[in-house]
Amino acid sequence: MTSNHDLFVRACARLPGGVNSPVRAFRAVGGEPFFTRRADGPYLWDVEGNRYIDYVGSWGPMIVGHNHPHVREAVERAVKDGLSFGTPCEAEVTMAETIARLVPSVEMVRMVNSGTEATMSAIRLARGATGRSRIVKFEGCYHGHGDAFLVKAGSGALTLGTPTSPGVPAALADLTLTLPYNDFEAATRLLDEVGGDVAGLIVEPVAGNMNCIPPREGYLQHLRALCTQHGALLIFDEVMTGFRVALGGAQAHYGVTPDLTTFGKIIGGGMPVGAYGGRRDLMQQIAPAGPIYQAGTLSGNPVAMAAGLAMLELVQAPGFHDELARRTRLLCDGLQAWADGAGVPFTTTRVGAMFGLFFTAEKIETYAQATACDVPMFNRFFNAMLERGVFLAPSAFEAGFLSSAHTEDVIAATLDAAREAFAEAKA
Ligand code: PLP
Repeated sequence: MTSNHDLFVRACARLPGGVNSPVRAFRAVGGEPFFTRRADGPYLWDVEGNRYIDYVGSWGPMIVGHNHPHVREAVERAVKDGLSFGTPCEAEVTMAETIARLVPSVEMVRMVNSGTEATMSAIRLARGATGRSRIVKFEGCYHGHGDAFLVKAGSGALTLGTPTSPGVPAALADLTLTLPYNDFEAATRLLDEVGGDVAGLIVEPVAGNMNCIPPREGYLQHLRALCTQHGALLIFDEVMTGFRVALGGAQAHYGVTPDLTTFGKIIGGGMPVGAYGGRRDLMQQIAPAGPIYQAGTLSGNPVAMAAGLAMLELVQAPGFHDELARRTRLLCDGLQAWADGAGVPFTTTRVGAMFGLFFTAEKIETYAQATACDVPMFNRFFNAMLERGVFLAPSAFEAGFLSSAHTEDVIAATLDAAREAFAEAKA
């Protein structure tokens, strides 16, 4: 039998760090990653046959659990007709219509292949449409690995302690301004100063890459008003929150309408998909309707569209998001109770089926607070949970995700493990 360790040794010889995406490598939490052989429902099984309750969910897409038959069968049907056409196909049109129906601010959409492509393309559109060069982002928010965003970026970059990446030209980074998330005053000041040069302000409407930090009450409305006042486009990066925190995403949950929205993860049903969309007058400026160039050999791929459409059918079931939110609350409340019982300073955040675990007694609302939490304690907790068959995101700065396959029994099993893990982490 192949072991996780043997595979990691082989992987490290040929893949940088042994992985194809940094946070998978477990560097933040210590140890080596396990290699998944198969996944089903709320579980992953590694190559050694160990089973894990999975709260990573492929980093967000698997909101109906792994290997859901409705999604898998849609993919199987699509595959029989061919893998890629290079011409338009009906599934792309249905996908665009579905997104526009579920997220009304998205009047037109362009499909791409990842969240990174979506955000890179959205800021090109913002720059092209406004004729301005600067963009504004928030410290601790992650928008993929496009050069313009690797300026004090969070998530993987934060975990690895490289707030800016070599290879990003300083001249380009100069055009990205960074604000503290959830700070009303700082946003007002910055836009009062340079608002006339800002093409777009991009934000995760619920921050999910500095752990999980919901917006303060009125914060997204404040950003909306500032952008309108200064003629900058408001871009919601809903790659993580889209179809997760509510059927209509964070913009529906908080009642704020952005000019442009980016998507990924859930809309691909587990296949490599992203999308950006928004106001018709803006989207009509994208080639070939307009002059702003953006293209993709595999964009709108028929198999990926089939997976995404099947996933979007499932999340439209009546009460789907309410039930997920209820179970997420059960999980968070249960974890809080065991942490309190063990005398561990601990707090949780959650919006819909997205949650954050923080080793601190403070209510968390800012990036500075998130980074001040007890990271070594989180790492001990992570490893204690993993030993007990529960896989949390392998970094103190990532959000957790629940799926509809996480039944009350699965949550109860998680809490059993957590009871011991808190005690172990404290020791
Ligand atoms: N935007 C957000 C909010 C994300 O969480 C991510 C990835 O985690 C991205 C963009 C980048 O998406 P991808 O990894 O598909 O390129």
